[in-house]
Amino acid sequence: MGNPQGWPGAENVQSSLFFESPEEIYARVFRELKPRTPLPHLVIEFCSFANADSFIRLEDGRLHVRISDLLAGAPALVTEALAHILLRKLYRRPVPRVYAHRYRLYLNRRDMRRQMHLVRQIRGRKFVSGPQGDFRNLEVIFEDLNQRFFNGLLGRPQLGWSRRPARGMLGHFDPSHNAIIISRIFDRESTPGLALEYVMFHEMLHLRFPVDHQGSRRRVHTREFREAEKQFPHLREAKEILKRL
Ligand SMILES: [Zn+2]
Repeated sequence: MGNPQGWPGAENVQSSLFFESPEEIYARVFRELKPRTPLPHLVIEFCSFANADSFIRLEDGRLHVRISDLLAGAPALVTEALAHILLRKLYRRPVPRVYAHRYRLYLNRRDMRRQMHLVRQIRGRKFVSGPQGDFRNLEVIFEDLNQRFFNGLLGRPQLGWSRRPARGMLGHFDPSHNAIIISRIFDRESTPGLALEYVMFHEMLHLRFPVDHQGSRRRVHTREFREAEKQFPHLREAKEILKRL
């Protein structure tokens, strides 16, 4: 089947990998490393850390893995690479370069670096700026969209502006703080309101459709999400404005 995702060392993986849950991946890697040791009870959690760090510990016969929620949507091959890195560190085995390389490659992707940067900004501090900007009020925009597209049923999260007018990350929904953060770039008279509305609408859909951690494919923008996004009037026009920002 060739190299399905272009990841190093992915040429020889069995296609079953793509249907494994994180638990199944960790169990398989464990058996590979310690074939004669009974598999400990596995607890895998995705946690909102301020960075992409992940942790593993063995306690009372339980293997506890805590993975950054930034990796919740990572492809199975990346989860597998991290399983090798964490388990091999725990058992003091060398980590083959292919896994270290594959994992690093993923973290170095531009979208991942942007996400990490923003998450560090938000999670590193205690509160969100509040909805009132210099020119625009996020609460007013949220409630207007809530009435128009969600029958007023979405609970309002914390709303805030990013510290700097970031172009890379225009909006972000942070489930750990239940907060929507919007780039300051939109708090200007010159930036069309339609673009801000669209970015807010997109983040509101993240509230409406939480990331699915259950399946083996953990997608943030599901087909359901994309379909719902099409309800936004002047979607193409809004995206055009964002491109020109
Ligand atoms: Zn999104």
